[in-house]
Amino acid sequence: MSRSPKSGSAPTSAEAGTENTENRVRRARRTPQKTTEFAGALMTTDYGKLTWEEVRDADKDRVVILNVSATEDHGPHMPLDTDTVLGMAVANGVAEAAPDEVFVMPPVPYGFNEHHKDFPGVIWIQPETLIAFVTDITKSLAHHGFRRILLLNSHGSNHPVLDLAARKTVIETGIICVSASYWNLCADRVNEIRKSEVGGIAHAGEFEAAMYMHLQPEHVDLSKAANQNLHDPNTKFFNLDLAKGGGKAMLMRWWSEASPDGTMGDPTVATPETGAAFLRAAVEETTALVREIRALPILTRTDHH
Ligand SMILES: [Zn+2]
Repeated sequence: MSRSPKSGSAPTSAEAGTENTENRVRRARRTPQKTTEFAGALMTTDYGKLTWEEVRDADKDRVVILNVSATEDHGPHMPLDTDTVLGMAVANGVAEAAPDEVFVMPPVPYGFNEHHKDFPGVIWIQPETLIAFVTDITKSLAHHGFRRILLLNSHGSNHPVLDLAARKTVIETGIICVSASYWNLCADRVNEIRKSEVGGIAHAGEFEAAMYMHLQPEHVDLSKAANQNLHDPNTKFFNLDLAKGGGKAMLMRWWSEASPDGTMGDPTVATPETGAAFLRAAVEETTALVREIRALPILTRTDHH
């Protein structure tokens, strides 16, 4: 029985072969050239793009950067992913500045922020869970031979959590694990660049809005932003301004008690130009930290029992 070809039927194998070749070429053009350190050239800094053989052969004194952020309200003017976008911009900026000194892990885009949950969209992780999750990552890295890790924090309330995760990693693996919130590394320079008063840089304020405007202006709508500088000038001990040293005493209230729209700070003075300067400062100072971490000696314990 003979069958006549139907219109709209599947392509012949010859046509399919041609199409596949074209797809392969298109894919190859999209994929950055992979290199290895054996060839005397640089291995990619993108941890997720390494093969297992490249991990085996990699320089284990490169600093592995893990950004831990949050998915949460950032005022009516910015998206939920702000902390991840900014944290990864810093991490990737460091990779560009020091391409043979770091690897950048895929980020952990959730953090400790249950106090934000009155605002729709917030995904919160219990601090115990986050410590366990992050230390599972660092212990995996140690298992593969990496000796130097930077937990790069981009969400305020993760700060004490990542401090503990880094300390636990040192105790449980013996490798070097450092935690840092990126705004602390560049606070002096931020204060030289900023336009806002004390209290203007806390959450979705001048600092974050300016950097997001520099990176992805289509996702920031300053027409919806309001000045929510909630700093009390009479306080001696409480200060949530990220670039002014934070407070000597800490109270983290429910976010909806403290801020009417989720903002804490003054996004209204943010510009893409200051955002570029903030980001440059953050990248340069984080790169300097990475170089210090690479230079730290690996020490030996002494059991004095
Ligand atoms: Zn944020």
